[in-house]
Amino acid sequence: MIQKKIYLDNNATTPIDKRVLEKMMPFLSEKFGNASSLHSFGQETREAVEHARGQIAKIISADKQDIYFTSGGTESNNWILKGTVSANKTKGNHIITTSIEHPAILDVCKFLSKQGIQITYLPTNEVGLITLTDLKNAIKDETILVSVMTANNETGIIEPIKEIGEMLANINFEREKQNLHRIYFHSDAVQTLGREYINVNELKVDAMSFSGHKIYGPKGVGAAYIRKGTRIFPFLNGGHQESFRRAGTENVAGIVGFGEACEIVGQEMYVTNEKLKKLKIKLYNGLKEKIKDIYLNGDLEISLSNTLNISFKYIEGEGIILFLNKEGIAVSSGSACTSGSLDVSHVLKAMNTDIICAQGSIRFSLGKFNTEEDINHTIQVLPPIVQRLRQMSPIYKK
Ligand SMILES: *Cc1c(COP(=O)(O)O)cnc(C)c1O
Repeated sequence: MIQKKIYLDNNATTPIDKRVLEKMMPFLSEKFGNASSLHSFGQETREAVEHARGQIAKIISADKQDIYFTSGGTESNNWILKGTVSANKTKGNHIITTSIEHPAILDVCKFLSKQGIQITYLPTNEVGLITLTDLKNAIKDETILVSVMTANNETGIIEPIKEIGEMLANINFEREKQNLHRIYFHSDAVQTLGREYINVNELKVDAMSFSGHKIYGPKGVGAAYIRKGTRIFPFLNGGHQESFRRAGTENVAGIVGFGEACEIVGQEMYVTNEKLKKLKIKLYNGLKEKIKDIYLNGDLEISLSNTLNISFKYIEGEGIILFLNKEGIAVSSGSACTSGSLDVSHVLKAMNTDIICAQGSIRFSLGKFNTEEDINHTIQVLPPIVQRLRQMSPIYKK
């Protein structure tokens, strides 16, 4: 019997939508022109790139000129942080972020800190939310940037971005009167695009990061939203592409695929969310019913409809992953970047999760191709695995 594989790791990456692939194919063969060329070969790809720019701008209600294509979420985060810091050096040297960001923010902050930039890492409460009070108290005259992720990749927790945007707008209004520079607001929205409604004007963000491969698009392509007027240096110098801000011949096929992926998630978001939320609750209830000593990390409501992070007390996440993998079920423990090391997740640590629990945490991240059958099968397969691992665990009291 061929084992059906069940993929529950959609926050790590998603399979490409066939419709996206179809749109990309011509740009990997006959439509090969350089989008900067003046002839018809170039015009054809230029049009395709600009069409894609419109597709992404539309689903986040942004101005098309404020969208810049990059190689993905990591590059967008690097650019926005390093680019604003270097362009605003004379104004201040302080950044505020959170302790639960993706490594593509935290490692950039570590790098910037070595260059003399001061970083404040906001704490979270036990479900993983930061507070406006903590943020407000962290702001100094020297603060130039606040970067808070829209939704966390490990727990799915959705941060109060709109409230932060509102507060920063008021603070900036007061600062202007005191002749103080503006504090820019960035949010890593890689996990949120296509999963939650995003409107850059309602959220009052100056910059956002996006990625193609988390929304059923291709890998190696993403975008930075940068509001007009934001002082930021280019990340790559070398040509006039992307308004002189991100040089390099465009990844046309990738950009076309990313644009199409945006279009599709925009249309399907509400239906997909309804379905995924039901599946997530079903999975949670099913596991809770059959397995003792399990804990939800985060919150079922204030989170992405696809993400469920659960701790199985007394055992280690790695063991669960390997046994589930043998059954054809793919899950992960926290972020892909930290798995492989036995350190507990920095996100769960920030949430003050009990260490014995944090070590046994599993992230189930569902996607639009998952079925109820997948969830039923997982609920059936997992309890005996947990039972078996607990029997082997020295800290489990029978
Ligand atoms: C995946 C992810 C990234 C990195 O995006 P890439 O396109 O893989 O570089 C950044 N931030 C978050 C929250 C992510 O989940």
